[in-house]
Amino acid sequence: MPKALVTGCATGIGAATRARLEAQGFDVIGVDIKDAEVTADLSNAAGRAQASRGVLERAEGRLDRAAFCAGLGGHVEDIEAVVSVNYFGVVELLDAALPLLSAGEAPAAVVVASNSSQMSEFIAQGEIVKACLEGDEASARAEVRKTNSGQLTYIASKNAVARAVRRRAVAWGAAGVRLNAVCPGPTRTPLLQGGLDTPGASEAIRSLPVPLDRWAEADEMAGVIAFLLGADAGFIHGSVLYADGGTDAMIRPDAF
Ligand code: NAD
Repeated sequence: MPKALVTGCATGIGAATRARLEAQGFDVIGVDIKDAEVTADLSNAAGRAQASRGVLERAEGRLDRAAFCAGLGGHVEDIEAVVSVNYFGVVELLDAALPLLSAGEAPAAVVVASNSSQMSEFIAQGEIVKACLEGDEASARAEVRKTNSGQLTYIASKNAVARAVRRRAVAWGAAGVRLNAVCPGPTRTPLLQGGLDTPGASEAIRSLPVPLDRWAEADEMAGVIAFLLGADAGFIHGSVLYADGGTDAMIRPDAF
């Protein structure tokens, strides 16, 4: 039976991705802080090591697909955890998964970033992103404390993680493993609901124009992930795919 790793499998986009992969016949190894085959807290190094060990044990030497969906919204109280889960919780597991994926059949991985990842050139050039890309979690968390903004931290974590995907294209290509990122717009999940229930974040979400004039369902996003993981996307590698109802095109019509 082919094997797939899904982080953030308990709810939202990760749960919908898990369901799609299971329907395709994959044996899914879920990683989450709750309701998963491998229960681990990706917000700290010990939890991430536990997650990697758990995946390694269950994969038995091989993974065929991987989807990195675990993430926190900018509305949460512990904003340092946002950069730890959304960046370090992805890249550490991503790198741990590569040797397993390179032993898989038509292997592919997808990282869930966000359409906010390119919304601020100022943040993209800033210290949080820089510390992330240097692999310095302590400095990244210190910079988050300085900004004291969950929303800026969220954008920075997603900018950094999309760039981490791009930066791996050569090495992953050489290993025979496709790697891409998807950038969702507002998608109806517990994370979005958490933002909607938080003053400040709620107004920001509701005021973001979406040319298609609606929010996405989690299963629509899982469909995009399944496409990127599948044979029809066989030559797509190192790409950042926006699935956001047109918001990015509206904000940055001349950048792609
Ligand atoms: P969600 O809250 O339903 O799912 C996130 C999952 O991550 C949950 O199962 C949660 O338990 C898990 N998780 C959170 N912290 C963790 C930790 N410390 N350790 C292990 N697991 C942890 O939200 P979602 O909307 O499905 O989010 C999936 C991804 O999509 C996230 O990376 C999010 O940033 C991204 N995203 C979501 C939206 C949206 O509008 N929903 C938009 C853009 C990007």
